[in-house]
Amino acid sequence: MAGIYLHIPFCKQQCTYCDFHFSTTFDAYRQEMVNSICTELRLRTSYLEGKAIETIYFGGGTPSILTKQELTQLLQTIHSNFQVKEGVEVTLEANPDDISKAALREWKELGVNRLSIGLQSFKEDDLAWMNRAHTVNEAETCIQLAQSEGFHNLTVDLIYGLPNLTMEEWRNHVQKVIDFGVPHISAYCLTVEEKTVLDNWVKTGKIQPISDEAQGDQFLLLLEMLEANGYQQYEISNFAKPGFESIHNGNYWKGEWYLGVGPSAHSFNGTSRSWNVANNRKYLKAIEENETFSELEELSIENQFNERVMIGLRTVKGVDLNELATISALPEAFSLKKQSFIHDGWMTQHDAVISLTKEGRLRADYIASELFM
Ligand code: SF4
Repeated sequence: MAGIYLHIPFCKQQCTYCDFHFSTTFDAYRQEMVNSICTELRLRTSYLEGKAIETIYFGGGTPSILTKQELTQLLQTIHSNFQVKEGVEVTLEANPDDISKAALREWKELGVNRLSIGLQSFKEDDLAWMNRAHTVNEAETCIQLAQSEGFHNLTVDLIYGLPNLTMEEWRNHVQKVIDFGVPHISAYCLTVEEKTVLDNWVKTGKIQPISDEAQGDQFLLLLEMLEANGYQQYEISNFAKPGFESIHNGNYWKGEWYLGVGPSAHSFNGTSRSWNVANNRKYLKAIEENETFSELEELSIENQFNERVMIGLRTVKGVDLNELATISALPEAFSLKKQSFIHDGWMTQHDAVISLTKEGRLRADYIASELFM
């Protein structure tokens, strides 16, 4: 099985914290971009070596900006050039301000069966502070609208750790999503990425990020509330009611193959990764002139080992040490550090599988990096 990811590099405006690849001026070349992504799909049909496509994921950027005609063109190109499995999971990332009854009906008609809504917050001031394009009212109504149009496989993104977000406000945001009956939640801690507006605010002293401890408290509150309401944390930032886990992301974490098309998209075929140029003009030109538009890295044993550790520790399945040892013998330092994390209460081991405790999940990246080869 394999997946296809389509990166739609357009956004209405720039969110202050975002370092994804996108452009806010695209009207003049949006059709050219769709045509080029279709060309890339045709050029790379052999990348997945005939594996059946189990998931299609429209990410970005803001794919909900695309018209019905543009989405149809992309989907038809996939169906004509790849073997698409019946019942394929088709996810579309959508921002609340793009969600209308008409749009939902079009998406359903096209076969979109999972919506990922970029909600982020139910607090007007924070939405404005993040420069999101939607309001609280749009955030609230879009969920009900989507459900009333038959989209029950829904996920929403929430952000915590914002400078002025109190515990009480965060509790209310999580509770609202639970009350709306949304079966999947992705919750991310605000991070300061380089070259973003937020980065500039921090560097110039305009804002003071909240402490790691306060962020940790919000994360633990999230775990507690979602666990009490029947969600399983199947990955550090992802929580689902049974049967609503993302197949697409689950396959990333299982190491399944995927083809990523569009500017900045990444691909993986078991032994190598490649990534497309993160520049819309360069991408269009390269496709038009039949030039190279991506870079490739063969994964070394070290890369494969470290990825297995990082991904495994972020997921509920943990890391199977027997499986890890098929990549490389476990270094002595690995075993010593593992014991020390178990001693600190950050990690547990059942048979040959290690996984993180709640306390460990607070520092997952640090723990993984300590276990790297
Ligand atoms: S809409 Fe999404 S991709 Fe676009 S700037 Fe905001 S966070 Fe980034």
